[in-house]
Amino acid sequence: MKVGVPRALLYYKYFPLWDTFLSELGAEVVLSPRTNKRILNLGTGAAENEVCLPVKVFYGHVLSLKDKVDALFIPRVVSVEGGAYTCPKFLGLPDMIRALDVDLPHIISPTFNLKLGLREFCCSIFELGGYFTKNFYKIISAFYKGLNKLRNFEGLMQDGYLLNEALTGRLSPTPKGSLHIGVVGHPYNIFDSYVNMNLIERLKRRDIKVLTAEMIAPEIIDEIVSNLQKKLFWTYEKDVVGAVFHWLDTKSVDGIIYVLSFACGPDSLIQILIEHEARKQGFSVPIMPIVIDEHSGEAGLVTRLEAFTDMITRNKVGRL
Ligand code: SF4
Repeated sequence: MKVGVPRALLYYKYFPLWDTFLSELGAEVVLSPRTNKRILNLGTGAAENEVCLPVKVFYGHVLSLKDKVDALFIPRVVSVEGGAYTCPKFLGLPDMIRALDVDLPHIISPTFNLKLGLREFCCSIFELGGYFTKNFYKIISAFYKGLNKLRNFEGLMQDGYLLNEALTGRLSPTPKGSLHIGVVGHPYNIFDSYVNMNLIERLKRRDIKVLTAEMIAPEIIDEIVSNLQKKLFWTYEKDVVGAVFHWLDTKSVDGIIYVLSFACGPDSLIQILIEHEARKQGFSVPIMPIVIDEHSGEAGLVTRLEAFTDMITRNKVGRL
């Protein structure tokens, strides 16, 4: 069976696990191409205007895959840890796609909800594995192999490699420049170079070392967010807040770029938290938010990036 995986949203979190699990059970995994103009146009044409850019991009990837596969893999990821949820868009994703007015292949959409406990989570894994085999042991073995791949991928990022390098295995040396910039936001915004107009490459070309939330140990993030006055309900946004607070506390970066999606509810709330903390610390580390949507222009981004990096370079030289 050819199973299509859209190269969007949680692909950036879990692809090594999904790919290994499905391949071990005999599926041929077909990944959609990197985001391009055609995919973005397909997505914006099909999605409601009000949804955020990453969901529109997801629609585009689904449409680019639909005639090439026997089934689409679109899990409903509700919760990946006790006590927190993912964004509501991830909960409704399979339904939103099914509601499209086009012919689609079968959609495989197991629900992953750790809030309901480990037993339910395991049932979802067996439900998914059951599409391919009835062999219980084969499903368990495929899942553990997938989990190992996921841990290796996460380990590479904690060793300082960028997500796209860890995903593809093409590890490149980090720039030696003395300027360090933390780039935070959802991985599907930061590592989809088409939607962010090559943000990371542009920084690297200026010999800037880029740090991301994935490079910080999860224990550090957990400790930081456990000290917040109010508990954060969203798992992935915790990573963003934890990373920014960590960099502000340790002053381990010279500047922070926060990439937000237009029309993203969680992003707009998290932005207030981040700005509040930065203000408390007297903006000792400059922060620049960049809001992206399908109309974002490259010229505006380039100008802002140049101004930001020039400003922090001057600050740094002035402090020496
Ligand atoms: S977290 Fe924001 S950007 Fe991501 S899917 Fe939800 S609304 Fe969209």
